[in-house]
Amino acid sequence: MKDLKELVRPNVWNMKPYSSARNEFKGEASVFIDANENPYNTNTYNRYPDPMQWELKKRIAELRGAEPAWIFTGNGSDEAIDLLIRAFCEPGVESILSIDPSYGMYEVSADVNNVACRKVHLNRDYSLDADRLLAAVDEKTKLIFLCSPNNPTGNDLDRQEIYKILNSFDGLVIIDEAYIDFSTAPSFVKELRSFPNLVVLQTLSKAWGAAGIRLGMAFASPEIIAILNKIKYPYNVNQLTQEKALEILNQEKEMKEQLGIILSEREILNNVLGNMECVLDIYPSDANFILVKVRDANATYDYLVSKGVIVRNRNTVSLCEGCLRITVGTPEENVVLLKSLKEMSL
Ligand SMILES: *Cc1c(COP(=O)(O)O)cnc(C)c1O
Repeated sequence: MKDLKELVRPNVWNMKPYSSARNEFKGEASVFIDANENPYNTNTYNRYPDPMQWELKKRIAELRGAEPAWIFTGNGSDEAIDLLIRAFCEPGVESILSIDPSYGMYEVSADVNNVACRKVHLNRDYSLDADRLLAAVDEKTKLIFLCSPNNPTGNDLDRQEIYKILNSFDGLVIIDEAYIDFSTAPSFVKELRSFPNLVVLQTLSKAWGAAGIRLGMAFASPEIIAILNKIKYPYNVNQLTQEKALEILNQEKEMKEQLGIILSEREILNNVLGNMECVLDIYPSDANFILVKVRDANATYDYLVSKGVIVRNRNTVSLCEGCLRITVGTPEENVVLLKSLKEMSL
């Protein structure tokens, strides 16, 4: 990996971050009249929240086998994606590299920041070819975005191919693990110490059942985390989200129970869909959704909409022609989906 100073945009490296009241005084006191807050605590949130979310990070660290200084928490993992691009890529000059098909936000965040997003196709079976990806790297490439299990294809990327990229690329490699809890593959969080150029993204939006509170995290070396902290909004995770997230992360048992149901329902969907005439192919999934190739994606999508069942039409996504992405629902919801498809005459 290049020196961090060489990778970070010079303006970001040289800037002085905003210093909030809660940064300048962190201890205990009886009278807090330093932040222009309303002193009346009618709703428990009259005070600014902890800008560094330490309580939350301690719990995440415990759950994921990391340390608080190796964690950034933000307003969804989308915030971390945007901050990484803004911290490391000079607009109009530098670029990111992403696999294709994959999660759309890498390109959208790059576009917003006027940073080029170059995309390299996965193989036809959605496996990763590290050599082909690395061949697309040039001197302007700062970040490589991988996603495993990948959205919308559902598969884990091959670990050996990921190692090749981590070992050969001298910029940062971001592995988006939004769906890691559904997979049997181990998280790359445990490998952060071996790869100084690794950033792992996770979220409470999927397995933890908390998309509505907006809490995402990035795991990386304390030096990289410090860069993200330097440019984030001072209070980027609000008090209500910090409290709720902590509560949710203390209910790991409930999460695991739901996970078990979702995984067994995924198998049921696989089996039943596999025997349907309208289904041409089902791609193996390590996530909580299945990519399914059907005879006529647009007609099937419209038909399901007419039955009140909304799936994601991925027909126009590269390498996903004819495909629908179907999230595993509750057992009852899955019955409605399967019954509707059985009754379809296309
Ligand atoms: C859903 C999803 C996310 C989650 O983003 P949040 O902003 O944390 O809700 C991240 N990456 C991928 C690949 C996803 O599919």
